[in-house]
Amino acid sequence: MIIKTAEFIVSNSDVAKCPKNQLPEYAFIGRSNVGKSSLINMLTNHKNLAKTSGRPGKTQLINHFLINKNWFLVDLPGYGYARVSKTAKRKFQKFITDYFEKRQQLVSAFVLVDIRHEPQKVDLEFMEYLGLSQIPFSIIFTKADKLKPKAIEKHVEDYCQELLKSWEELPNYFVTSSSRTMGREDVLEFIASTNDEIEALRS
Ligand code: GDP
Repeated sequence: MIIKTAEFIVSNSDVAKCPKNQLPEYAFIGRSNVGKSSLINMLTNHKNLAKTSGRPGKTQLINHFLINKNWFLVDLPGYGYARVSKTAKRKFQKFITDYFEKRQQLVSAFVLVDIRHEPQKVDLEFMEYLGLSQIPFSIIFTKADKLKPKAIEKHVEDYCQELLKSWEELPNYFVTSSSRTMGREDVLEFIASTNDEIEALRS
């Protein structure tokens, strides 16, 4: 997919105020500092579309970006800092779970995971929450430049083994690095082909 245009449209904390039109949208979420802003800037070829920062928990809003005037990229807040509570669902802020449960235009989510780290409970719980809510998702491993190719393979394999403890089928996954522009085409092609499928179903 060639990115011709990428425009910021709106930020808010209420799913009811998200754009009203029916364009397909893809949500990006992960723990604070996972590299989400850098990934969004890499995917859209913009240095500053999403604000990058070392300060965790900064973007506490649902941010809509219109791409090529035909789909939305949605930048959701990092979820690593919520208080511990009994159920996985209650661990995530209400406006995030509202977004996932109410937003009809949502096609698929991307859960970002730092490739260097062992599987983290909060990420696994978030994926479980998405699964229970029947929301399709892929995993995006970030910061792959920090590992050598053999280590990338090993970390991905270990992550998949952990997932297979609770999932029958593995989700799609992408290995990316924003600093080396790695994995960009794979993610964009996945979105393009999903958009084509939706278009074909609608026509
Ligand atoms: P966010 O909080 O998830 O939006 O993360 P940011 O995109 O702001 O990145 C957090 C930190 O990780 C920053 O210091 C980035 O420079 C760094 N970072 C992000 N992506 C990469 C990457 O692909 N490779 C490396 N080496 N560092 C990255």
